[in-house]
Amino acid sequence: MTTQTTQTTEPPRKIRETPLFVPELVYFEPASLDYPKGRRIMDWARERGLPYRMTTSHNRITGLPGETELEQYKIAKRTLVVGVRKTLKFDTSKPSAEYALPLSTGCMGHCHYCYLQTTLGAKPYVRVYVNMEDILGAAKTYIEERAPEITRFEAACTSDPVGLEHLTGSLADAIAFMAKEPLGRLRFVTKFHHVDPLLGLDHRGHTRIRFSVNADYVIRNFEPATSRFAERIEAAGRVAKAGYPLGFIVAPIIWYDGWREGYAELLEKLGLTLPPEAAADLTFELIQHRFTRTAKSIIEKRYPKTKLEMDEAIRKKKWGRWGQHKYVYPDEQADALREFLTERIFETFPAAKIEYFT
Ligand code: SF4
Repeated sequence: MTTQTTQTTEPPRKIRETPLFVPELVYFEPASLDYPKGRRIMDWARERGLPYRMTTSHNRITGLPGETELEQYKIAKRTLVVGVRKTLKFDTSKPSAEYALPLSTGCMGHCHYCYLQTTLGAKPYVRVYVNMEDILGAAKTYIEERAPEITRFEAACTSDPVGLEHLTGSLADAIAFMAKEPLGRLRFVTKFHHVDPLLGLDHRGHTRIRFSVNADYVIRNFEPATSRFAERIEAAGRVAKAGYPLGFIVAPIIWYDGWREGYAELLEKLGLTLPPEAAADLTFELIQHRFTRTAKSIIEKRYPKTKLEMDEAIRKKKWGRWGQHKYVYPDEQADALREFLTERIFETFPAAKIEYFT
């Protein structure tokens, strides 16, 4: 007897594109409305009927809705605060650049391991600054101070500015500014794929756009509310085609069961998907996972079901520059991660440069 099976071919499921960030609540400092950027964001919020409030300071947002601390945290991550940047003394940003360029602070992503959880403390809301002329004017002074050396500015130290570009246009301003500065360079890293507004700009190769990538296990388990891997890679290809120097940050590199296969697959996918233009001037930055005791206790409260391993007993203790011990992988594990990734990177992209492993 034969059994006949009818095969039904289901149409491929369309995966929804990761949407642009739309805040649920917006705060404005009154002075922010003296700037065209502030007024544009106000018009944008009104057109969408978003609730907005005024605040005396972008540093003091109180009375966010939410019954519990966790609810308030989640709402804060979807709250936009539009302000004027008063501190024009830039932080240093080693090892990736000389200075941090303050375009925004805070992020709508929910990466469990994100160091902003500790550095932003009780202010996890998303702040954007509208006084670009002041900020870029300060950058110019820093560039002049270091001439004839090149000065690099990192715009993603305290935020993911690509995810906010549709609201602010600040990266476009900074890219256009750096294009005209022979000794100025801009760089930023992102987990979002919303790069369209940047593609047609005259950047003159002075801006390096990097994408944060990782093994599928890490992205699936620890990076909610960011663009998917496939979206990031596709965006990286478009950035390379637009002539930008391109880079990848593999961070945090995590030791888990199957990490070799996971990171091998990551490099294989990058090699298969990126257009040839991407390989011409490609950098990698490698950062192993680390945590502090403070970070661990915050993460456990905010993401109580996280699978993120944070066991001090199996880590190496290192003195951190924030005046706290941090826990990294013991040398043997760190070396194995570094060697494996280095080999795979050069196998796939022989002309790439690894800027650092930390
Ligand atoms: S996308 Fe970057 S800045 Fe945003 S939460 Fe994730 S790690 Fe933090």
